[in-house]
Amino acid sequence: MEVIGGTAAFIYYLHLYTDILKPKVTSRLSPESYTPFKLISVTQDTADTSIFRFEIKRPRFDNEQEKLVDKIVSQGAWAVNVKDHLVQTFRTYTPIAYKMGTEVDEQTGARSGYVDLVVKRYPSGSLSRFIHGTRVGDQIEMRGPILTWPYQPGSHGRIYMIAGGTGIAPMLQIIERIINDPMDNTKISLLYGSPTEETIILRPHIEKLRAEHGDRLQVSYLVDRGLAKNSDNVQLGIPDRSAIEKFTDEFDKSASDIVLVCGPDQMMHAVCGTRPVGSPQQGPLQGILKDLGFTSASVFKF
Ligand SMILES: Cc1cc2nc3c(=O)[nH]c(=O)nc-3n(C[C@H](O)[C@H](O)[C@H](O)COP(=O)(O)OP(=O)(O)OC[C@H]3O[C@@H](n4cnc5c(N)ncnc54)[C@H](O)[C@@H]3O)c2cc1C
Repeated sequence: MEVIGGTAAFIYYLHLYTDILKPKVTSRLSPESYTPFKLISVTQDTADTSIFRFEIKRPRFDNEQEKLVDKIVSQGAWAVNVKDHLVQTFRTYTPIAYKMGTEVDEQTGARSGYVDLVVKRYPSGSLSRFIHGTRVGDQIEMRGPILTWPYQPGSHGRIYMIAGGTGIAPMLQIIERIINDPMDNTKISLLYGSPTEETIILRPHIEKLRAEHGDRLQVSYLVDRGLAKNSDNVQLGIPDRSAIEKFTDEFDKSASDIVLVCGPDQMMHAVCGTRPVGSPQQGPLQGILKDLGFTSASVFKF
């Protein structure tokens, strides 16, 4: 036992203080295999949530790998799998912002970009604690992009988004995609539930987008407790039947409007039913949205 314990401690020491066990950083996305990425910055957002920026590198000229990455990213919302190389487990995260490094930097001649992951730290969480323990300059293995929701501009008149906690991540990615595309006139309504105002993730950023694109982006927050008095778009409550009925009262099936839902299991269960674990299937539509007369065709569960 002592020999095993000593060996484990030695490997842990090697990992922490040397680069011997770490794969060489390539920072090149690959949907087919895990590749190491360098962490270039960490920005704390709420008490337990931070934004982790990883460097993306691109070879001087596109090859098949880059073409495949671009193709997947162009098809809609996407995520990455992040691996803990020590215990070989992975979890999925949705980049809230990214720059794929398609353009050549005039000063360096290199092509580089970044991918931003917003990660909430769970006290007993395996991967979220691993990511939060990573230091700037260190590396982490990722695989992707993985297409999570196919999207084509113009395919929906309005997108209704119901999010809870880190469920804001895919919504933000889609909001940015639509707002930054001058050819895309899709309208968006976001209903974002959070325990308190302090735990609303990336609120200043969401509010900036709302201020700049108020004609196309409506945002309302629901908080369980601790309502501040001076917010025009925050209300006390949870995404229950009356809140969702009011939120979707202008839903127009003939304009191909759609409802996207992403949040903790408890919220998914109540709003639309959870997705089958480890399956690409959506599972049957249940909960409040079903009771309100929605069908699977106009609801997508992340
Ligand atoms: C498509 C997809 C995209 C995702 N995008 C993001 C993202 O952008 N940012 C992000 O932070 N997470 C995201 N997640 C969730 C993420 O993949 C992990 O499940 C999460 O980080 C917890 O992993 P863990 O290993 O730390 O916790 P685990 O070791 O798996 O769980 C340990 C404990 O943590 C708690 N816990 C874990 N997950 C949750 C949860 N979702 N809600 C409440 N309690 C929980 C539970 O108490 C659990 O018992 C996404 C998931 C999917 C499927």
